[in-house]
Amino acid sequence: MSDPNCIFCKIAAKQIPSTIVHEDEHVVAFKDIAPQAPVHLIIIPREHFAGLNELTETNAVALSRVGLVAKSLAERFGLEKSGWRLVANCGSDAGQTVFHLHFHLLGGAPMGGRMV
Ligand code: AMP
Ligand code: ZN
Repeated sequence: MSDPNCIFCKIAAKQIPSTIVHEDEHVVAFKDIAPQAPVHLIIIPREHFAGLNELTETNAVALSRVGLVAKSLAERFGLEKSGWRLVANCGSDAGQTVFHLHFHLLGGAPMGGRMV
């Protein structure tokens, strides 16, 4: 299911432009429009659900699919040795701004701070 008002559903459907770096039946990945690291990709399940709060037994498979795509993209973008981070914001305290489950794949330079 997709949500006609959701920007990431529109990106997955190619109704608005983005730089897609991976797509398959279940998962789409594209470059973040405001990158916070030399490599900053967004990885989403095609299926629309708002975020980790909406995870169920039925849709939880999306997490493993996203994880496998993240690993493959990390290799493709040359991050597997230097390191990379996979992050999902959930809700307002975490700073979530787009309510379609997504993971940020970040890498390409040492990450400052110690949030995690
Ligand atoms: P979050 O704050 O975790 O909800 O992350 C949303 C991310 O989506 C931010 O890093 C934005 O820069 C990114 N973003 C928003 N709109 C677009 C877009 N049209 N194309 C690519 N990335 C986007
Ligand atoms: Zn969506």
